[in-house]
Amino acid sequence: MLVVGAGPAGTAFALLLARAGVPVQLVESQRQHQRLLRGDGLMPSGLEALQRMGLAPLLANLPQRQLAGWSFYLKGQPLFSVAEPMGSPAPCTLIDTAALLNGMLEQALACPSFSFLPGKAVDRLLIEPETAAPPPPAGPVGDSQAGDSRVKGVVLEDGSELSADLVVACDGRGSRLRRQAQLERQEEATGLEVLWFELDAAAAALLQPWLAQRFVTLIGEESSYALFGTAQGGVRVGWLQQRGGEGGEQGGSEGSEEGDGPSAATPWPERWARSSPPALAALWRSLPAASLRPPLRFAIRPGLAPGWERPGLLLLGDGAHPMSPLRAQGLNMALRDALVAAEQLLPLLVPPAAASAASTSSSSNANANANASANGDRPAPDQQLHQLDAALVAVRRLRLPEISKVQALQRQELSRAELLRRLPILRRLLAATARWSGPLLARRWLAGQPTLRSGLPLPKRPA
Ligand SMILES: Cc1cc2nc3c(=O)[nH]c(=O)nc-3n(C[C@H](O)[C@H](O)[C@H](O)COP(=O)(O)OP(=O)(O)OC[C@H]3O[C@@H](n4cnc5c(N)ncnc54)[C@H](O)[C@@H]3O)c2cc1C
Repeated sequence: MLVVGAGPAGTAFALLLARAGVPVQLVESQRQHQRLLRGDGLMPSGLEALQRMGLAPLLANLPQRQLAGWSFYLKGQPLFSVAEPMGSPAPCTLIDTAALLNGMLEQALACPSFSFLPGKAVDRLLIEPETAAPPPPAGPVGDSQAGDSRVKGVVLEDGSELSADLVVACDGRGSRLRRQAQLERQEEATGLEVLWFELDAAAAALLQPWLAQRFVTLIGEESSYALFGTAQGGVRVGWLQQRGGEGGEQGGSEGSEEGDGPSAATPWPERWARSSPPALAALWRSLPAASLRPPLRFAIRPGLAPGWERPGLLLLGDGAHPMSPLRAQGLNMALRDALVAAEQLLPLLVPPAAASAASTSSSSNANANANASANGDRPAPDQQLHQLDAALVAVRRLRLPEISKVQALQRQELSRAELLRRLPILRRLLAATARWSGPLLARRWLAGQPTLRSGLPLPKRPA
């Protein structure tokens, strides 16, 4: 088994397999997680996934900050606030994602069947010649690309080849492997982007008392922005703007979060102050200019691949479905993909010894190996590949409803924000009537939150 990309999807998936004794190689182009900016908001959906992975003890030992609530301001006026945990078993929690990934990696490295190749970029897929493709599986493959030739490994940029029965592509929103496998992705052109700013510790210390552990969204005349305290004690600001607005091209590769933001003529803290209530505006205006590092640009380009698989290949995480940053979904959905994929595939992958031990308490291996060859408790190699391919389809079918629903809710929330952004008259009206309009808007906002927070019920583990 080969997993490409050591983000949340790839690391979690590889760990779950390695813990069960499945031989797994994890390939990652970067040497250090800290080099990539990733989301750090764990919703109850992500917390549930980590718990079901048995990672609650690891999480408990990581730097984290539980949110006290969500507050919205319009033209400096409070619109509404909602306290966490909003009926969920746990509040939304900001974590140090690099520390989580390192912790998972450490656990995987302790498993004898796991190997990690950092600093190795995958260049392309190794695909069997069409004529060598196996016949379509007998199982319920449905709309998979079963007739396609089989992926049998990858070629690294240094030219070396790694072969595998299954390649799991967790290579992020710019997924090269998805494109090579010709798995199309439908993308929404929102025309929007977020500039992410990190404030230094001194600035964060100044802002934390005002923030009071909240995630705050401020809608102003010029644009809207959000700010929250990170698990590491800093403060992050996300400024929403028209893509490529205010000069400056989109930096980096497809969907990349690289690139400096535009150099605004008006200093950023002054811009934020203009959309802020007086107390926060005063704090912004007191910040020394050196408190800000250049922002990272993040295009809002959600998308969904209708097919996540072809024989020998499965896409997970952002590669299959880049998410909008609204209500912190990407990390959470990636973890849930990894969990469901591992639970579906493990019964087919565990070594025979582990399988027979496990089958004393579960029938999963008996089902998986229903077509086992007469002289062993494993299916013939071809049959096993067909079973694997069928399981890939099952993974996608189990995950698509949640991803589609969450993306629809994000779209709804974003279109409301867009309406406010485009219509100054609406902003003025709502701000003037904030006392009445606030509770109404809160009710609307709350209606979408249960699924955005908890997702849909996770499928049962295969019996
Ligand atoms: C600024 C920002 C804020 C965000 N906020 C949140 C949030 O609060 N909550 C939330 O849930 N989500 C958030 N997200 C989104 C979240 O970070 C992603 O959805 C999540 O990381 C996706 O996980 P993944 O494993 O699919 O992909 P990634 O995390 O993108 O990991 C992909 C990995 O693959 C590696 N890779 C890529 N190509 C290759 C190759 N050819 N060979 C080898 N390795 C390769 C990359 O180096 C990377 O490590 C945010 C994202 C950003 C950028």
